Amino acid sequence: MSQIYNNISIGNLTAFLETLMNEKDKIINYFITFPSDFNILDTKSTYKRLLDKVRGCLEKCPCCRRSCDIDHTLFKSIPGSSDNQHCCRLGHALRAMNGYRYEITDEASLVMCEHIQAEQIIVVGPIRKRWSEFKKDHYDWNFDLIMSVDELNRLHNKFLGVWAKIGPELCGKYGMKFVTTNILRPIEEIPLHYILLLDGFGSMKGQLWNDLLDGVKKFLKYRLLRNSANRISIINLSIIAFPNGSTNFTNAFGP
Ligand SMILES: [Zn+2]
Ligand SMILES: [Zn+2]
Repeated sequence: MSQIYNNISIGNLTAFLETLMNEKDKIINYFITFPSDFNILDTKSTYKRLLDKVRGCLEKCPCCRRSCDIDHTLFKSIPGSSDNQHCCRLGHALRAMNGYRYEITDEASLVMCEHIQAEQIIVVGPIRKRWSEFKKDHYDWNFDLIMSVDELNRLHNKFLGVWAKIGPELCGKYGMKFVTTNILRPIEEIPLHYILLLDGFGSMKGQLWNDLLDGVKKFLKYRLLRNSANRISIINLSIIAFPNGSTNFTNAFGP
């Protein structure tokens, strides 16, 4: 540079500076056309991965609200994807810690997410669903037992110790009945009385009626397999007189 500088003189300093300033603006405008936003340059989510590494994952178990404790940065895929699911490797918490209680008895639920069987029914807001369905709804989480059964039992006992101290306050907050052990009574064991009203009128004749009977048979078979104490009543509506001739329940049974 010094060699070039020594060989060239600046005849008109003002013109030189003006040209220089214009050139500067041109170069800046040229660079502005290139997206340089950090989010665009960070195509591999490096920032998020580093944050995850430093502070840990912020996701909480949708059932017990225990924080996800897996190091997502050990895997290449995005946290929550099928091979990098959120999970509580150190064990989930008691469901009661997130306000879960049993129906009817209102007992605080002292089981952990690992204890719940696929067929067990849980109530989420107005919806009843099997645990297997809940897990499907939260496919970004792995609820499987990761530790050994002995470790899980030890952890469960520790949680019960903590529960004895903080449980009454949480029960007051969530409107649950404070207990230190659950009288387990799965919902499937509570006898229910099913009443099936079959529309046997003319409009249901033929295939529709056969399909309906098939459905009823499957339902009965399933209930028998469950070996529950449920009762089932089946009423053929064609023996009930509907005032206007059509199967209108409002008119037949009152509002
Ligand atoms: Zn959980
Ligand atoms: Zn996570």
